[in-house]
Amino acid sequence: PNDLPQFDTAALRAKDAAHHLHPFTDTKSLNAAGSRVIVRGEGVRIWDSEGNEIIDGMSGLWCVNLGYGRQDLVDAATHQMQTLPFYNAFFKTTTAPATELAALLPQVAPPGFNHVFFTNSGSEGNDTIIRLVRRYWDLMGQPQRKTIISRHNAYHGSTLGGASLGGMSGMHEQGDLPLPGITHIDQPYQLQHGKPGESAHDFGLRAASWLEAKILEVGADKVAAFIGEPVQGAGGVIIPPASYWPEIQRICDKYGLLLISDEVICGFGRLGHWFGCQHPHINSKPDLITFAKGVTSGYLPLGGVLVGDRVAKVLIEQGGDFNHGFTYSGHPTCCAVAIANVSALRNEGVVERVATDTAPYLKAQFATLADHPLVGDVDSLGMVAGLVLYKDNASRTLFDADLGVGYLCRDHCFKNGVVMRAVEERMIIAPPLVMTHAEIDEMIRRIRRSLDDTL
Ligand code: PLP
Repeated sequence: PNDLPQFDTAALRAKDAAHHLHPFTDTKSLNAAGSRVIVRGEGVRIWDSEGNEIIDGMSGLWCVNLGYGRQDLVDAATHQMQTLPFYNAFFKTTTAPATELAALLPQVAPPGFNHVFFTNSGSEGNDTIIRLVRRYWDLMGQPQRKTIISRHNAYHGSTLGGASLGGMSGMHEQGDLPLPGITHIDQPYQLQHGKPGESAHDFGLRAASWLEAKILEVGADKVAAFIGEPVQGAGGVIIPPASYWPEIQRICDKYGLLLISDEVICGFGRLGHWFGCQHPHINSKPDLITFAKGVTSGYLPLGGVLVGDRVAKVLIEQGGDFNHGFTYSGHPTCCAVAIANVSALRNEGVVERVATDTAPYLKAQFATLADHPLVGDVDSLGMVAGLVLYKDNASRTLFDADLGVGYLCRDHCFKNGVVMRAVEERMIIAPPLVMTHAEIDEMIRRIRRSLDDTL
């Protein structure tokens, strides 16, 4: 567009280098290169301060599900800010947007989810989960059920609780984590853990069996819950075999564990269903669901926990005060934007269109990259997709991790006008749900060009 805001890029870079500590970033090397300043977004595209147009293959950070430039979301925020920018939900008060959103979410959630606890982020949602799980088992008269089982390479946020639930070794090393009472099993990633000749089906069952082994190791009466992302996002778009989640569900049922689906990425249509657990490939029946990101399409921060009836009943009928919450739990302006966002996803049939049209088209086009000499293991589910960069495809030889080939490819992508993310040997995308076929075609062309540049 010709209305790009004008910035002095060099001056901004200098200020950024002098003062801004970026998340998950090596500040010294960032400062040497300088930050790219993003100034504008429209539809599925963003622009930087030097006028470069970029297709946002990552929806910001997995969140801008409706795309950029939605006036209805802006209007919802403006109206609420003019009327009542903030009031809290503590001490027997509420606001209309918080209450309306709490009543709206059960209409799109899986059956049996009738209550919601609001937070500002996914991390706080998962911290809330830890509190809820512990409270539930205390109230059930089984306070010894403290251990939550998660998975290595899972991402559940960056607070002490979220990072502990997560299985990112780099985070654990820097924080003396995980906190006590949280333990991990291996992820269902066949490239890493599969046996030669093993079918995906068999691998999925074997990966799920690690949960049962861990339950027996800890002691069945001591385990409170299992948490997992339907599809691991930040871990590199690890799509488990279809046999995995039903077997996880069976094991949770067998030992009475609470099942937690972290839907911070998969929620709000990302997989072509309102929640990832509803996708036939996943097909789990969680007791608690964490959400954030897509609930507002990232226009304002909001997260929370959908609390299923099993937990809500005990918490409400026997729990008394639940001593947990945040100043901005149910922030009315954020909730007003969420209502506008959920309404738009609904009224415009976005989620159904992902399932029947956009995701199958993305799958087919993304799969065309498989003929590239660097590329193998191309896969997608809904609007997340990933591939593996191989040094030698035929023998499935990976590049030496120290070479940082993924980061090189990611940088070529940015230069060629597409945001793609590198996670170890994997290159991943999660584009806005509203992407058109023509935009998918253009994105794939730019990715192919970037792979060629990486060769
Ligand atoms: N859970 C999952 C699955 C996520 O992908 C993320 C963020 O990427 C989080 C939790 C943490 O959310 P936030 O960054 O809003 O705290």
